[in-house]
Amino acid sequence: MKKGLLIILSGPSGVGKGATREKIMANNDLKLFYSISMTTREKRPGEVDGKDYFFVSKEEFERNVKNGNLLEHNTFVGNSYGTPKDKVFELMEQGKNVLLEIDVNGAMQVFEKLGHDLPVSIFLMPPSLKELEDRIRGRSTETEKAIEERLNRARKEIKEKDNYKYVVVNDKLDETVRQIHEIIENEIKYSS
Ligand code: 5GP
Repeated sequence: MKKGLLIILSGPSGVGKGATREKIMANNDLKLFYSISMTTREKRPGEVDGKDYFFVSKEEFERNVKNGNLLEHNTFVGNSYGTPKDKVFELMEQGKNVLLEIDVNGAMQVFEKLGHDLPVSIFLMPPSLKELEDRIRGRSTETEKAIEERLNRARKEIKEKDNYKYVVVNDKLDETVRQIHEIIENEIKYSS
């Protein structure tokens, strides 16, 4: 059976990765499966354990790192995030296309492990830094210090965008989703 694709969606915090991902996932024709990450971050209102993330303690996260259970992992604004490995490979073996929504550092780890050409990598850009700041502040679930850290991190992440095969500017969500859908559809076509 033909293996599924590994698709990496990155982009700075606040750029709209979550909303983009949800809309793309809603479309069944791409046979997409979302890889649920593990995190030590506090649950935000409305988030569901086992759907948005596996919310775990620092100890449990460290155990998973030690046991080699994570494909990649990173610390982001004081919290740890990582991709459970087995599930990803299992789904790909079944011919399913797996979507990872991870930060730039995590993406680099995947490139190092699996090679640069294997994952279909997509970087989501904000229309401007000002727009990004407004979006992060608009969400306002965090302290000023955490917001500043996310903004600093965003500036650094944007510098890495050329490491990705595709860069998409998220101005209007529907148009962004259309572009990403087209990218994945073409990649599926070329991989057969
Ligand atoms: P948030 O706290 O806003 O949900 O996520 C913070 C950042 O962590 C985002 O850039 C998000 O893409 C990234 N992230 C989420 N899951 C993972 C993961 O499993 N690995 C890595 N490296 N980053 C992740």
